[in-house]
Amino acid sequence: MKILAFNWKLNPLTEREALSLSSLSDRKDVILFPPAVFLDAIVQRTKRAEVGVQNLFWEAEGAFTGELSPVMAKSLGVRWALVGHSERRRYFEETDEMVNKKIKAAFAAGLNVILCVGEPRSVRERGIRAARAFIRKQLVSDLSGIRSSEFKGRDLAIAYEPIWAISEGAAHHPSDTPKDSAEMAKFIKQTLSPKPYPLNPKVLYGGSVNAKNIAAFLRPKEIDGVLIGGASLQKKELVKILSTKS
Ligand code: PEP
Repeated sequence: MKILAFNWKLNPLTEREALSLSSLSDRKDVILFPPAVFLDAIVQRTKRAEVGVQNLFWEAEGAFTGELSPVMAKSLGVRWALVGHSERRRYFEETDEMVNKKIKAAFAAGLNVILCVGEPRSVRERGIRAARAFIRKQLVSDLSGIRSSEFKGRDLAIAYEPIWAISEGAAHHPSDTPKDSAEMAKFIKQTLSPKPYPLNPKVLYGGSVNAKNIAAFLRPKEIDGVLIGGASLQKKELVKILSTKS
């Protein structure tokens, strides 16, 4: 089953709109990442889709004003955590070390993880080999010390999201090509296949996926699904996306 993961970022503005989006997307191949304030309402009302947090902190509790605890998220019925999204790395200065601590905390709390990796435009302009070296370094740092044996029963998926392909609000960027992203997905699987890494992670592609191009990204066998931001918030687009993959 190929996965459709929807990252709503800091949208929509009201719980009513959030529930309307989640009821449209309530299928068992969907993972929803709503803003934290809507988690409880969405978990209560979704029957088939799984729900995740867009971010979390590495401590379970304590004097950390404003943070989101993985243990609290789990107790609400949340199943997934999105970790290392490029917007968090860019705007909130999340380092690979912080990403690594977040992954460990999410697994320890019983959450599955989608780890986002992706190279900036300046790296991709130097060619595919430079992009691969960048991704390998991110994977090795982000997953440092994580052994599959310690986290049995948890799922790890990698979202390959080239930063230059991610849309910014209304500004849509050109997506990667399905061929290049499938090659990168294969490379990620090869990089993570030897022990001690968690075995056989699924690899998703993210970056300006929409109703027009989704079929092409879901076709290659190396790509196990897509992570969609902007297009998952537009109802007409969402309906088409869901009908493409039904
Ligand atoms: C994302 O936020 O992970 C993303 C892929 O966004 P978009 O689909 O809007 O490019």
